[in-house]
Amino acid sequence: MPPAGPPEIAFAGRSNVGKSSAINALLGRKRLAFTSKTPGRTQTINFFSLGETARLVDLPGYGFARVPKATRAQWQQLVGAYLSSRETLAGMVVIMDARHPLTPLDAQLLAFLGEVRLLVLLSKADKLTRVQQKHALSAVAASVKGETLLFSSVTRQGVEDCRDLLEQWLRQPSPAGR
Ligand code: GDP
Repeated sequence: MPPAGPPEIAFAGRSNVGKSSAINALLGRKRLAFTSKTPGRTQTINFFSLGETARLVDLPGYGFARVPKATRAQWQQLVGAYLSSRETLAGMVVIMDARHPLTPLDAQLLAFLGEVRLLVLLSKADKLTRVQQKHALSAVAASVKGETLLFSSVTRQGVEDCRDLLEQWLRQPSPAGR
């Protein structure tokens, strides 16, 4: 891991949920975060510098069903080490699939992350009707402590709102993202 520097916003989510695509959409650059179609392959933490002022941190995809136990343990060790050592963490973005948010794996991930400043992005919102989007948003907002936004890296729905919120976090860092 690079030494701690500017405030960091870390991204987590189940494998294949659209995390790399979301990071690319937010950074406004194509293919900066590698998008992979093979679930659960990346077990490294990628750091993206936003000049001197911030970093985006791409945590490895979480617990896909086909991933062996040892890989899951490795994930917990790696991400646990990151979370417990990073005083510059300004907050966490957790990506969930808008079509089926709050799966048992999502709940496990949130429990693992513990108390942290949180934004949930409901990804692939373009696959839902307006009414379905509204239902997904209120269901998640009612049960998750933090902010929730509908998001699509295809239509760019939610990209600006997400950027605004993250900029606000970076302007007002809270100790260790809490
Ligand atoms: P990651 O494993 O969470 O990083 O997921 P990726 O960003 O690699 O995306 C996984 C798959 O979902 C890819 O086939 C993407 O093209 C697709 N995908 C990602 N975001 C969206 C989105 O907002 N809308 C739609 N329709 N597909 C998406």
